[in-house]
Amino acid sequence: MLNERLIDPTTKHTTDRFPRQEQAPPGLTEAMVPLPDHGEQSYQGNGRLEGLRTLITGGDSGIGRAVAIAFAREGARVAIAYLPEERPDAEETASWITDAGSDPLLLPGDLRSEAHCVELIEHTEQAFGGLDVLVLNAAHQRDRGGIESVPSDDFEAVMRVNLFAPVFLARAAVPLMEPGSSIITTASIQATEPSPALVDYAMTKAALVAFTKALAEELGPRGIRVNAVAPGPIWTPLIPSTGWPDKITDFGKNTPLGRAGQPAELAPAYVYLASDDASYVSGAVLPVTGGRPF
Ligand code: NAD
Ligand code: MG
Repeated sequence: MLNERLIDPTTKHTTDRFPRQEQAPPGLTEAMVPLPDHGEQSYQGNGRLEGLRTLITGGDSGIGRAVAIAFAREGARVAIAYLPEERPDAEETASWITDAGSDPLLLPGDLRSEAHCVELIEHTEQAFGGLDVLVLNAAHQRDRGGIESVPSDDFEAVMRVNLFAPVFLARAAVPLMEPGSSIITTASIQATEPSPALVDYAMTKAALVAFTKALAEELGPRGIRVNAVAPGPIWTPLIPSTGWPDKITDFGKNTPLGRAGQPAELAPAYVYLASDDASYVSGAVLPVTGGRPF
């Protein structure tokens, strides 16, 4: 007998090839074809993060926006950090947070700056009176033709945004965090399945996994949990702004589920890790990869 309640994950979201497209980094949502699904019409909150004070880097768009919407609908206060040129995306995310009955905190600036990382934590603490969940989600990546043509300045940007910023942010945040707080990093399938074209980015994601595990061990005795989510291919502004317009058409096809993931499919993993449901989970890496083994 067919169970009509089952939802087929291979066809739950678009399986079409993506049209060829390219944007300059960091990219904006409105220019994407098709538009990503951040759970605007689907995510249902259940009070699982009631009263938690949260900061999400890269919270303007993509996975960060989906997490921001879900966190707000679960009852959290939500601060989002983003680049100034992403203001249209940040305002759209903010409107969904407001819609959920939460008052958003918008924090523009460049994570390549150590001073900005410290200010982000200070501003969040001043506005919310504390910080309970830190989501280290921002990242930069560019397609590399090969090791011989990796540009020094952009290599440094990848290292600063993906690695230095998480360390500076966690260093400033941990003294404020009480038992029951948590840190969630966004790693990647690239940590264990590196693509040559993303060599430097993949290095940072492998390092983030080590960071997550080391920090989980250090902070466990203080009651602070630290975990990572490792996404597979997800349809976000990062993808059209990576500089591979021709590779986009088949994006996500190389997964067992046969399609790209949508940001909405990532948010529940972050909600779980931030919530008391995950009270015995720390140092974990939760793959959300469409079936590609992590
Ligand atoms: P996204 O472009 O929506 O989010 C990345 C964010 O990083 C941007 O919105 C931007 O605000 C922020 N950022 C980049 N450079 C910055 C800088 N210098 N200063 C401040 N902020 C900066 O894309 P996304 O795919 O949602 O990315 C979120 C996370 O998911 C990243 O860590 C990314 O590595 C990871 N990830 C994405 C995929 C994918 O296929 N999209 C796969 C694996 C992992
Ligand atoms: Mg963005």
